[in-house]
Amino acid sequence: MQSLAILLNNPNLPKPLLTIAQKVKDNERISLEEGVYLYEHAELGYLGVLANYIREKKHGDLTYFNRNFHLEPTNLCVYDCKFCSYSRLIKQKEEGWALTMEEMLAIVKKYDHEPVTEVHIVGGVLPQYDVEFYSTLFTAIKQHRPALHVKALTPVEYHYIFKKAKIDYATGMSLMKKAGLESIPGGGAEIFAEEIREQIAKDKCTADQWLAIHEEWHKLGMRSNATMLYGHIESFEHRIDHLDRLRMLQDKTGGFQTFIPLKFRNQHNQMSHIAEVSVIEDLRNYAISRIYLDNFDHIKAYWAMISRETAQMSLNFGVDDIDGTLDDTTKIYSMAGAEEQNPAMSTQELVNLIKQVGRKPIERDTLYHVVTDYTDVVFENEVKPQYYKLPVIN
Ligand code: SF4
Repeated sequence: MQSLAILLNNPNLPKPLLTIAQKVKDNERISLEEGVYLYEHAELGYLGVLANYIREKKHGDLTYFNRNFHLEPTNLCVYDCKFCSYSRLIKQKEEGWALTMEEMLAIVKKYDHEPVTEVHIVGGVLPQYDVEFYSTLFTAIKQHRPALHVKALTPVEYHYIFKKAKIDYATGMSLMKKAGLESIPGGGAEIFAEEIREQIAKDKCTADQWLAIHEEWHKLGMRSNATMLYGHIESFEHRIDHLDRLRMLQDKTGGFQTFIPLKFRNQHNQMSHIAEVSVIEDLRNYAISRIYLDNFDHIKAYWAMISRETAQMSLNFGVDDIDGTLDDTTKIYSMAGAEEQNPAMSTQELVNLIKQVGRKPIERDTLYHVVTDYTDVVFENEVKPQYYKLPVIN
């Protein structure tokens, strides 16, 4: 808070940056042009002060994580997104997997005695996984373990399966809700700008369709997340346009909980010739997202995608959530070249990661109800910092 006051009294700060800082202090929304200006001109230190001011105003030092596992039904996909390191085309099916209903339920049952609160289901798009298949899956999970929150699929899958079933989005989302779906993750948004989407994610649902499916879901009183894939061929204008479309829908429905910027990783995909952006750019992007999306409660960093150290740093740049324990159940990040090749962290490790940078670890459920406040919890086997007596020279 003090840092923002110092910044506002800095006589050398360029006028547009001073205006933006004043708006943040006054809780005023910044414009699209100001958003682009931040991307083009603002330094990391300045952005950190503003983003952290907003973060601490909303959440203080609280930093959220959850205990979850991923269920990835298949990595075979009818689409061919250029940035995707995960999927295999159906013609390469010997390199992929496609789980049966029984295999998926067996994965869920593996966690019967674990205190997980959420199953996150996401994968490729396959014709045989249709409305009926997913309805049966959601219902079976809820029957087996009613308290496990089912967060599943993205508008990419929903658009595909509803079209195949010849039903509209409103009907389709109601069916999913009845079957047991409780929230939608943020994937499939990529970059909304049509000229970029056409080049990197041709044929799958359009930006308008992505937004329309979330809108229908919100109309049912349900919550979802949103993402943005950044750091490839998009410009700063495209990023702000993306954030702006999300901000407008959020004004209308209020149904989004969390925004998650996703860094483009360049291993094993058709865009490997494009260099990845720096960690500095990652932090700038978190901060600008926090400043621009004034109507989103949470900004999340996927520790498994950006590394544990960058996740820790991001907590000073607007981020208040670092995702879940994962238990090595996702291949999405590792196949794209993320630092974490077998992403899994124990609760103790996650808690320590957050405490090490002076924040307060809060285990949440999917809807941000507090499960456990770990601020004062000391683990049994915790190794305390060691202090050594120094020799005293008289
Ligand atoms: S990003 Fe999703 S829709 Fe695109 S190819 Fe990969 S799995 Fe399929």
